[in-house]
Amino acid sequence: MTERMNIYIYSKHDEDSLDKKAKVEDALIHEGFTMTNNSKEANIIISIGGDGSFLQAVRKTGFRQNCLYAGISLTGKHGLYCDFNYNNLYEMTQSIRRSEIEVRRYPLIEVTIDDHRPFYCLNEFSIRSNIIRTFILDVIIDDLLFETFLGDGLIISTPTGSTAYNKSVKGAVVDPLLSCFQVTELASVNNNKYRTLGSSFIMGGERKLRLRVHQDGNDFPLMAADNEALGIRKVENIDIVLSKKTIKTVKLKNNSFWEKVQRIYL
Ligand code: NAP
Repeated sequence: MTERMNIYIYSKHDEDSLDKKAKVEDALIHEGFTMTNNSKEANIIISIGGDGSFLQAVRKTGFRQNCLYAGISLTGKHGLYCDFNYNNLYEMTQSIRRSEIEVRRYPLIEVTIDDHRPFYCLNEFSIRSNIIRTFILDVIIDDLLFETFLGDGLIISTPTGSTAYNKSVKGAVVDPLLSCFQVTELASVNNNKYRTLGSSFIMGGERKLRLRVHQDGNDFPLMAADNEALGIRKVENIDIVLSKKTIKTVKLKNNSFWEKVQRIYL
């Protein structure tokens, strides 16, 4: 691990978070790590907070490919992305020092809205009707018009995002060892005019998904990439694929995805 000693820490800017960030920095410096304020120079990027902070850390540092990401939980409870605990920083520094970690790769989805620049999501891309009415989307898989959706919206989740919003609306939990992404409905209307599958479905990593928003006056939906709302207002086509990029995270031994799921939910 000696080539991975330059650490950048992402935290919120409130007093408590900054205080805890300073304590983490002290602990890391004490163990011989070097801190940097420039995330581009870091080979380890650590988030302090919960899974939401980890999502922000990855997004704000540009989904870097040549570094490891690690999450420190402040609540005393581990999260899906938070393998370390603020109350046991010694364990974290010793684990990194002794290289008692494995690299785990988490899939990302790549989303392109019309002719805007593509962006990545680690948890999910979500699209919802903006007003009290439903809205209509064509769901196109590769070049097949698969279904026309009328309802509140859709969630397109990665495997690690499958335990988040997707799970709350009865999507399946998906092992991140699988290269795939999942489509989950938010309150679809099913009647003689509109019919959708009604269950969530999982698409192989080589497939292309296009969502075509019907331009009927409700074509200004709310869209989000993980926990960040998108500023794009008008939308016609959204193209989603599994990215060739992944996020590398540290993983303690005996801390598999399914152990995390068990710890969070069971
Ligand atoms: P938040 O609304 O403050 O928290 C949502 C909760 O989801 C938090 O407890 C968070 O954990 C947890 N979480 C985030 N990613 C997770 C994952 N991959 N697996 C399991 N739990 C996860 O927002 P946030 O903390 O910034 O997280 C953003 C995420 O919230 C979005 O990406 C979306 O998945 C999710 N969300 C869920 C719903 C819902 O379930 N109805 C609605 C909107 C958004 P921490 O407490 O450790 O941060």
